[in-house]
Amino acid sequence: MKSFACGDIIPGCGATFTAADEQGVLVQTRRHAVESHGATAPGTESDVRVRPHIRTV
Ligand SMILES: [Zn+2]
Repeated sequence: MKSFACGDIIPGCGATFTAADEQGVLVQTRRHAVESHGATAPGTESDVRVRPHIRTV
C-alpha cells in the first residue's frame, strides 16, 4: 500500500490518503488539491510535489 499525508507539504492540513499503488494516491491528491487548496483542475501539477512524499505502508 502507498500512503501520503498532505501535512508533509502543506503545514496544517490533516488530510491523508492511502491506496494500493502510487497512481491510486495521486487520483485522490489531485482532487484534494483542487477542492481544498485551490489548485486548477485537474490538479495534476500537484503530482511533482506529492510524489517525493508518498510512503510505502
Ligand atoms: Zn491538503
